[in-house]
Amino acid sequence: MLTELPLLPADPILGLSAAYHADTNPDKVDLGVGVYKTEQGNTPILACVKQAEAELYQNESSKVYTPPAGVPGANRAAAALAFGEQHAVIRDQRVATIQTPGGCGALRAAAELIAKAKPNATIWVSNPTWGNHVPLLSSAGITLKEYPYYDFNRQAIDFDAMLEALQQAGKDDLVLLHACCHNPSGADLTPNQWQQITELAAKRGFTPFIDMAYQGFGDGIVEDAYGVRLMADQLPELILATSFSKNLGLYRERTGSLSIVAPSATGAAASLSQILSITRGLYSMPPAHGSSLVDIIYHSESLHALWLQELTDMRERISGLREQLVGALNSTQQQMNFSFIAQQRGMFSFLGLSTAQVTRLKNEFSVYMTDNSRVNIAGVNGANLDYVSRAIGQVLS
Ligand code: PMP
Repeated sequence: MLTELPLLPADPILGLSAAYHADTNPDKVDLGVGVYKTEQGNTPILACVKQAEAELYQNESSKVYTPPAGVPGANRAAAALAFGEQHAVIRDQRVATIQTPGGCGALRAAAELIAKAKPNATIWVSNPTWGNHVPLLSSAGITLKEYPYYDFNRQAIDFDAMLEALQQAGKDDLVLLHACCHNPSGADLTPNQWQQITELAAKRGFTPFIDMAYQGFGDGIVEDAYGVRLMADQLPELILATSFSKNLGLYRERTGSLSIVAPSATGAAASLSQILSITRGLYSMPPAHGSSLVDIIYHSESLHALWLQELTDMRERISGLREQLVGALNSTQQQMNFSFIAQQRGMFSFLGLSTAQVTRLKNEFSVYMTDNSRVNIAGVNGANLDYVSRAIGQVLS
């Protein structure tokens, strides 16, 4: 039976990574893979995580299963980080939070919940969106539709086109929004635009489905949750997927959470029972290591402060790199104005190059990025900034 299965092509990003590793050019640069990197090009374990792991090693006395919703302290931390500790949805028990295997696990479980609640639901996703949204959400059998988002000509959000398209979203629909650090464009909604989408959701009756994979990487923990908190203030329900992969560097520990905000505490309890029955059928219990670290770090005054400092360092490094890249690119060539890169947030931006130019960068200069010219800004450092900028200048000339 299994021998009848055809061989699938390699995942483009994983294929890019393999090609980068096989490249023997000492000047090679990887701007493809979406993980944070230091000035030295590493993705180290945060100091707060190392210290929490030491504490966990000392104190963990059993590997018995966690409750089905995961480590309770991690769920409280995830909800408090997203909504703010004093938010009414927490106080009124209108939010149910479970721990999931990464943000991906949250998106996948949410898709199943949506399919169960409204089998005919449509989820509207931004054009473009993170590539993995499509398989994660559509494998539950839900229809996806796109709304216009990033205008490649103006290198900014086409908000009028977005609003117009979302006029068609109705009460059985969900609109997937990136809370901050939009992947792949780096172009985020302003507070005023969040307000307009919130008003449209109230008018049309669609449910916001927010993916917050980079909280703290844009402007700060509170600032990056602006849209989540606004919508939770003003709308009866929303679905939120969060991830600790980036902001705690817990990538391989698969640490994320899913929060359902319901109109009432009874509604939240019902959603929790449904989501737990779904996750029971998907993976039973979530992994515990990463979420135990979240619990320890969030609830320890000193580790929490250390984490916020480390998160600030990562964020400031990225925004500094954005400025430096603009300076270097604008001084090495005249064809394009790259100032937009400094306005954008998070790890990604589109350079706006053609596939042919991206291929030349790879083949002639060993500078690797995805075919649509999305770059991971954190892959740039002091040692490769000039090389990367000159290579881009060459393929543009
Ligand atoms: N959403 C977006 C937009 C992402 O970029 C990512 C990670 N690349 C995720 C969700 C999921 O992250 P993870 O499952 O690794 O926590």
